[in-house]
Amino acid sequence: MEPYMHDHVPEYILPLEGAPETHERIPCPICGSTERAPLYEGVALRGNTLILDICLSCSHLYINPRPPMAAFNEFYQDDAYFHLCADFSKMTLEEKLAQFDDPEFWDERFGHGKRLYDKYLTGKLTADDTVFDFGCGDGAWLWALQQLTGCAVGGEEISDIYTEIAAKRLGTPIFAGAVEEVADQIVEKHRGNVKVAIVSGSLQHMLDPMKCLRAARDILTDDGLLYICNWSIFEHYMAAYQDQRRRLLGEILSWEHLHYFHETSFKYMVRAAGFEIVDFAIESDVRERHMEIVARKSDTPAELPSRQEVEGVVMRARAFESATIAQRLRPN
Ligand SMILES: [Zn+2]
Repeated sequence: MEPYMHDHVPEYILPLEGAPETHERIPCPICGSTERAPLYEGVALRGNTLILDICLSCSHLYINPRPPMAAFNEFYQDDAYFHLCADFSKMTLEEKLAQFDDPEFWDERFGHGKRLYDKYLTGKLTADDTVFDFGCGDGAWLWALQQLTGCAVGGEEISDIYTEIAAKRLGTPIFAGAVEEVADQIVEKHRGNVKVAIVSGSLQHMLDPMKCLRAARDILTDDGLLYICNWSIFEHYMAAYQDQRRRLLGEILSWEHLHYFHETSFKYMVRAAGFEIVDFAIESDVRERHMEIVARKSDTPAELPSRQEVEGVVMRARAFESATIAQRLRPN
């Protein structure tokens, strides 16, 4: 067989059939259950074979087996990730990196923090408070909140390129590395003193999203707020979003996105990490094409979804798949 290559996707991830020996078969990364079933098995977005498992206990959807931490560290520490981002934005890598010197780019990025402030944080976040962003990327959300309120900021980021951009923009060093590897240091520095913890569009990249959410809980003040947002696999991947076409699972799943969230498992995950949900929106006003949760610390144990709810997730995936195929088969 010819060695299979895909643009900007590392070779160690890309066997056509099966998984490399380094890949790990894991229990559910949200609830720990080993009760699972494949919801999809076969060729995925980037051309390699993946299995999407559904956890039959909490309904979480996750890639299994998955690449090890070393693969992710390698991926984010060179420019492979930025090549992918540039492709997604339909620009060259040079154009993508030049954005960070463009004031108009930052004006647009400012909007995220501004909308978060207007919708959920007005009157709650002040210059005496600290905001922390897990997977802060270019640091724009923190930067906007810093500009709006004078609050202190802290962040964590796995990509070297982003770490540098964010630190420069914020005027403060941020934690560099995978959250799984720096969570303990973050908690040690910030325990109980953060008013707002943000995890925006980054949980799907993490091997251990629960470690991130538990660290968020540990650093929050008693009246602190957690804000998280992610795509829902149904509303933002499988359904036709705006004028984009509907997508099949095999056109969605990619090795660097280890988790595929939906309302049931998303809410369970946040509760299982020790929070109660204050607000939920399937369509966020803060970040377009994302569902979001605002939560605060709680000691109430999380209740697993019912068997019917878990089955409902399976049936909804099947309903989308068959309808999308039917639509493609129609003449014109
Ligand atoms: Zn589970």
